[in-house]
Amino acid sequence: MSAEIIDGKKVSADIRAEVAQAVKELQAKHGLTPGLAVVLVGEDPGSQIYVNNKERACAEVGFNSFKYVLPTETAQEELMKLVDELNARKDVHGILVQMPLPKHLDPTPVLLAIDPNKDVDGFHPMNLGRVVVGNALLPSCTPAGCIELIKRSAARMEGAHAVVIGRSNTVGKPVALLLLSENCTVTIAHSKTRDLPAICRQADILVAAVGRDRMVKGDWVKEGVTVIDVGMNRTDEGLFGDVDFDEVKEKARAITPVPGGVGPMTIAMLMRNTLKAAEMTL
Ligand code: NAP
Repeated sequence: MSAEIIDGKKVSADIRAEVAQAVKELQAKHGLTPGLAVVLVGEDPGSQIYVNNKERACAEVGFNSFKYVLPTETAQEELMKLVDELNARKDVHGILVQMPLPKHLDPTPVLLAIDPNKDVDGFHPMNLGRVVVGNALLPSCTPAGCIELIKRSAARMEGAHAVVIGRSNTVGKPVALLLLSENCTVTIAHSKTRDLPAICRQADILVAAVGRDRMVKGDWVKEGVTVIDVGMNRTDEGLFGDVDFDEVKEKARAITPVPGGVGPMTIAMLMRNTLKAAEMTL
């Protein structure tokens, strides 16, 4: 059996089209245009590309976008003051402070200062807590993207055994909790897990969020598994996931490629969260 390749680019484009349609309806019914403020401190080229991509995605779905580029030497108090101002603005529904910040700035108080109802990245402890209690108003974008890919690949989640490899606060834990909310039976594996291949072989749904090049081999999975590969490992041979795609696709029902799987979903879920944050103000 060769797997269905889950096309993250297409799903991402579909979701952005759905958001664009919802924006038109929001404008027609309520005269409301969602607004996303993106704050970039410093000149990290990677971050600049991310911020420009977000600005472009906003334009595409019909959001207002507000870009703040602050110099590298910006003081903590100045950044906190900007967050406070954005919290107070009625035309700003989502606030995103691009990470990583320059070394002299502490990200924690900045993230805590963002109004949880404008925290469209979903990193505020309040939003993680909402995921824990099964009320994921603004879930973090990559984990939410994983769930969306599973749903749109028509995998049955209720009662399925989902194995998540990785327990980071940004990916592994929220993915596991979102799967639990979908009525999966969830196992979370990590670097201290004993006999990881045997645990993975039990999975109906396998999510790998580790950061180890092609770690999950063909004999780690059972026939018919749905595989979501979050890993992004840059090697001399190119970009690879945590899953050995060539081996695992021969046994999987459906599998995400790297690149072109989970990666494109993050920005789509950011657009969806910003739409939700705007709707929450009605
Ligand atoms: P992270 O914070 O480094 O967490 C990695 C997790 O993997 C940890 O929980 C760690 O266990 C576990 N782990 C490490 N080695 C292991 C092993 N040999 N066996 C089992 N588990 C092991 O990484 P992250 O931020 O969650 O990101 C994970 C991957 O996803 C990275 O490749 C990252 O680049 C990628 N990523 C992609 C996107 C996207 O948009 N596609 C977004 C975010 C992240 P311990 O807790 O025991 O240390």
